[in-house]
Amino acid sequence: MSSIDGSITALLSAHQSIGVPQPLKMFGSEGQKKKYLPLLAKGAISAFALTEPGVGSDPAAMETMATPSEDGTAWILNGEKLWCTNGTKAELMVVMARTPSKTVNGKEKRQITAFIVETAWPGVKVEHRCHFMGLKAIYNGVISFRNVRVPRENVLWGEGKGLKLALITLNTGRLTLPISSVAAGKRCLEISRRWSSERVQWGRPIGKHDAIAQKIGAMAANTFAMEAVAELCGAMADRGGYDIRLEAAIAKLYNSEAGWRIIDDTVQIRGGRGYETADSLRARGERPVAVERIMRDFRINLIFEGSSEIMHLFIAREAVDKHLQVAGDVVLPGKTLGQRLRGLVRAGGFYAWWYPSRWLGWGFWPKYAEFGPLARHVRAVERGARRLARGVFHAMVRFGPKLEYRQAVLFRLVDVGAELFAMAAACARAQWLLRHDPAAGRRAVELADLFCRQARARVQVKFGELRHNADTRAYRVAQETLAGEHRWLERGMVEME
Ligand SMILES: Cc1cc2nc3c(=O)[nH]c(=O)nc-3n(C[C@H](O)[C@H](O)[C@H](O)COP(=O)(O)OP(=O)(O)OC[C@H]3O[C@@H](n4cnc5c(N)ncnc54)[C@H](O)[C@@H]3O)c2cc1C
Repeated sequence: MSSIDGSITALLSAHQSIGVPQPLKMFGSEGQKKKYLPLLAKGAISAFALTEPGVGSDPAAMETMATPSEDGTAWILNGEKLWCTNGTKAELMVVMARTPSKTVNGKEKRQITAFIVETAWPGVKVEHRCHFMGLKAIYNGVISFRNVRVPRENVLWGEGKGLKLALITLNTGRLTLPISSVAAGKRCLEISRRWSSERVQWGRPIGKHDAIAQKIGAMAANTFAMEAVAELCGAMADRGGYDIRLEAAIAKLYNSEAGWRIIDDTVQIRGGRGYETADSLRARGERPVAVERIMRDFRINLIFEGSSEIMHLFIAREAVDKHLQVAGDVVLPGKTLGQRLRGLVRAGGFYAWWYPSRWLGWGFWPKYAEFGPLARHVRAVERGARRLARGVFHAMVRFGPKLEYRQAVLFRLVDVGAELFAMAAACARAQWLLRHDPAAGRRAVELADLFCRQARARVQVKFGELRHNADTRAYRVAQETLAGEHRWLERGMVEME
């Protein structure tokens, strides 16, 4: 679907991956399943309503509120949801709302609860259909809820479990986007292959000019790696029994960013035609290749279902969590001297084994010889993973609790991890193809080899930047800019206000 049209992908993804079917299957009661699954099977479209005007990446500050009705048989829902995909068309929605806070250990604990809402109920209204840079065909809107009576039995999973439900649903739901990024990569590869062979400039097909050839080589290698990442995560989800939180987040982050770079290169390869609309190309008798639409449709993938920044933070938190469990009492503020001393002994015991083991270990020949020509890259992944673990630890020691605010550092560490994961996935997929489709497998080894060589170069740069960077200066200039100190630079424009 994604190789044809991003809007249909968004419709299916919002419906199946994050809309009603998936959470219903995972967390619904028998009664809810009996009532709603047949409707969905017959084609009812659903939506997922979390975002609000004031609530984007951080849903904890949600304002949509559900309060118990006086007779206790229902919840009364009030609020407004923004950018709800399928919202103008859906028969059913998962709506996230605050429910009355609970007091835990004397502290107020905010509750967010998920509800199944039928859009035909009184008080549900489409306020506005939203329009975007791309995905022009999606049914996306601002949906308001005014005293909507939601039967008590329509709470999904349980009161206060809404955010956890959204996170768990998204672990697998997030896999749609990586595989649809692969589809975009494949389409771009096809477009670039055809155009670079047909288009002759300076006496040669443009694909023979090194600058364009470099783009096409990287495009083929990256598309292969993206597919390897998406298929590996998909296989893990299908097999079950794995906690794929990290893998799914990496797949979403890596494939959406790699896909964007591929599309950017495809626009460049198509030259002026890459910037021209398909309708305009068709009208003047050329093949209507919709690269500009692919670009517009794709851009949102780096923002929704967890923006690139939020994915980086999510992955970084997982990486640092283990260290905080072990050494939190030593590095975190607000601990007593006794806690710190006990923490120091515990952390000392752990790191006395852990730290040397991140240095030791054989990551050289003949390890992983079964990977043939790719073995060197698998070994590099192993060495890189240990170096990464050390890098996380060193960053913890260097920045202490302030590491949380050093996002540029954390993001580099995450990027290294994502590259290593993609390398491992690419080598494993090439190996798998060699067994199942030897002809494709031999080609795949070539692509995996190129991908790993280029990924290793990127990893080296990221590791280098951990030590030598201009992060502090960039942050300072950003703050000065925000404070208006560089407004002089904005002079020379036509006034807009
Ligand atoms: C076409 C489209 C379809 C959508 N469909 C749905 C849907 O079906 N259901 C739904 O509920 N929502 C939907 N959304 C909303 C989408 O999920 C949000 O846009 C997304 O969560 C980001 O929120 P925001 O746009 O408010 O950005 P903000 O959260 O305001 O973030 C703005 C920028 O700041 C960055 N940022 C935020 N916090 C941090 C931080 N702590 N550290 C570093 N950087 C940070 C972000 O990454 C982003 O770059 C849709 C949006 C669009 C445009």
